Amino acid sequence: MRRYDIIRKKRDGGKLNREEIAFFVKGVTAGEIPDYQTSALLMAIYFNDLSPEETAALTDEMARSGDMVDLSPIEGVKVDKHSTGGVGDKTTLVTVPIVAACGVRVAKMSGRGLGHTGGTIDKLESIPGFCTAVSTDRFFEIVGKTGAAVVGQTGNLAPADKKLYALRDVTATVENIGLIAASIMSKKLAAGADAIVLDVKTGSGAFMKTPEDSLKLAQAMVSIGEHTGRKTVALITDMDRPLGFAVGNSLEVIEAVETLRGRGPEDLKEVCLELAANMLCLGGRGEISACRALARETLESGRAFEAFCSMTEAQGGDVSYLRDTGKFPRAAVSLDVPSPEEGWLCAMDTEAVGECSVVLGAGRETKESPIDYSAGILLRKKTGDRVRRGETLATLYTERPEAAEPARERFLAGIRIGKTALPPVPLIRARVDAAGVTEY
Ligand code: URA
Repeated sequence: MRRYDIIRKKRDGGKLNREEIAFFVKGVTAGEIPDYQTSALLMAIYFNDLSPEETAALTDEMARSGDMVDLSPIEGVKVDKHSTGGVGDKTTLVTVPIVAACGVRVAKMSGRGLGHTGGTIDKLESIPGFCTAVSTDRFFEIVGKTGAAVVGQTGNLAPADKKLYALRDVTATVENIGLIAASIMSKKLAAGADAIVLDVKTGSGAFMKTPEDSLKLAQAMVSIGEHTGRKTVALITDMDRPLGFAVGNSLEVIEAVETLRGRGPEDLKEVCLELAANMLCLGGRGEISACRALARETLESGRAFEAFCSMTEAQGGDVSYLRDTGKFPRAAVSLDVPSPEEGWLCAMDTEAVGECSVVLGAGRETKESPIDYSAGILLRKKTGDRVRRGETLATLYTERPEAAEPARERFLAGIRIGKTALPPVPLIRARVDAAGVTEY
């Protein structure tokens, strides 16, 4: 078998068989295939898509490319959660502690920033001392002790995805249903949870821009999950605007802490509560309506905040930053973006907002780029708001003075101000499970 032939077959629209997919995944895992050939195959897949059989084979091969975690030493149903990626998406930081505080164990593996989207691991690492690379034994120990742990895709878990993910990030090959489904589900399968709740984002800031594509992605992942014996639910949630007001690593941790302390933005709270309710439901805590009430009560009582503090402490993080978020370092440069006109904020190109945060230093330009944890954006206005000319739309934060002006231009290029208000769009659109699709 030759790599060249596999790349050419996919380039020409052919369907790869199990052996060809296994050959490539094994070669990537072993480091035998140069990045340029892997990138060429990824681009060929990007343009020609993967069939359901190819997606299933790629998922399985990637999941088996390393260790398959056995979570059975941890008692009870272990529920995992994964977002397809968004801008300002700090839901894991709020949802996981709610679920853990209700007694459902969460042993979670998260990713780093990808393309214009942020990653939970980068966010958590902005808390001084927070360690996301722990041994499997320590991972189990923390889950047993605090009810939850969030670790990176370290060691030998789905190493093929780790390599492909890093390459896709820098070769513009992220936005493909088969590649995203295989990437997410391979990690979920390898991570060993019994049940999985997926947050499939839709809109300008998501990898899937339309509700139709988001539904296809949700169905593809639910089908993979169910065929491999994991109860799987997907929520399709809005990403036509950033979630909350903060975009960027420590800015998002601060907003998540505010939410856990009852002072967070309504949109973030609503999505987190619905994700938590679905996780609790899969975790055997009752009907969805009872789980919604339980999730809300746990958030409002402050128990979820304490669960986040316990998890942070167990992972080496300095909890004093959570109890006093004023301790997080602020970026050296801040720049307000004034509204160029009067009217209603009708649209915000959320991908442009994410790219703007990368330019400011919150994400990676190349796979080796360092992250600036304090960089990012605080939105002062969101889609649907009334704005006056000159009023601040957002404040940009960076350590790179030369980045501020290009970022401001990029941000403004994605803003549309109209003369009339637009009707609000639903934040949570649908729920997909083995039984079908429920519209909200
Ligand atoms: N999140 C992942 O883990 N993988 C993708 O491909 C996209 C989002």
